[in-house]
Amino acid sequence: MKEKLQGILQAAKDQLAAANDARALDEARVRFLGKKGELTALLKGMKDVAPEERPAVGQLINDVRAEIETIIEKQKKVIEQAALAHKLEAETIDVTLPGEDVVIGKKHPLNIVLDELKEIFIGLGFSIAEGPEVELDHYNFEALNIPKDHPARDTQDTFYISDNVVLRTQTSGMQVRVMEKKKPPIRIIAPGRVYRSDAVDATHSPLFHQIEGLVVDKGIRMSDLKGILELFAKKLYGEDTVVRFRPHHFPFTEPSAEMDIQCYRCHGAGCPLCKGEGWIEILGCGMVHPKVLETSGIDPEEYSGYAFGIGLERTVMGRFKIDDIRLFYENDVRFLEQF
Ligand SMILES: [Zn+2]
Repeated sequence: MKEKLQGILQAAKDQLAAANDARALDEARVRFLGKKGELTALLKGMKDVAPEERPAVGQLINDVRAEIETIIEKQKKVIEQAALAHKLEAETIDVTLPGEDVVIGKKHPLNIVLDELKEIFIGLGFSIAEGPEVELDHYNFEALNIPKDHPARDTQDTFYISDNVVLRTQTSGMQVRVMEKKKPPIRIIAPGRVYRSDAVDATHSPLFHQIEGLVVDKGIRMSDLKGILELFAKKLYGEDTVVRFRPHHFPFTEPSAEMDIQCYRCHGAGCPLCKGEGWIEILGCGMVHPKVLETSGIDPEEYSGYAFGIGLERTVMGRFKIDDIRLFYENDVRFLEQF
């Protein structure tokens, strides 16, 4: 019996010493201490032991059992230590390695300039108004003094959703929407997308952006319009910018004008950028037509105002010397990364 116990103890020591993970450890525990284990089998064999020897043999079995349990606990700690050491090793951070670049997106060139424009006008006391891109014919045309049979409709190839609903062809409808809701003094810009059914080429896109401006108050004159727009041009293109106003026609302003800036490349001498003209057109403007004020619920006898519309794409193309409008919408990272 004693030899048998010694044999079991030695076998347990050998197997446990070789156990290098939790599973092997558990296998050894089951083999020696489990219900069908070798020590349990010996206990079951006690009935064959002479009665006077039983206490001594029982004690011996218990001693061996306790010793095996102790070895298991020790080995368990060894395995845990090894696992921890391995984990620490694997997760070591080498602080001398070069860092990984965090790739951050960039602002789209249209938004770079739009944000600058907004900042300039906010600095001049304007606030920002936003309106629907799917617009009623009333706001896009009728209320702007452009009735159904007006020739001005032919110059704007319109996407019609129904007879009375269009994709807005201009942000000017916002003039009416703002005046209907707000009483003067009014001083807003309304930037946004507009749509025209134009064929796509280097200077045309069915989607582009405008920034509408509107000021209505008592005693607003053409000189106020010229002053603000000249100030705006100097802030955007530089202090030495020279501007000029040319008479023009828009149905919803009277008088109307277009504002040019002297070409910033050739300073008026004429070059390919300004197509030899020496001037670059940057916006349309004028005094709000009394009919438009009236339609919007504002008394033209009491109030007057001016409005202007800036083409964002054209402004950005001039600013960054971009020669094809399509580049803005193609999402080519090689293009977008340059700004
Ligand atoms: Zn030029």
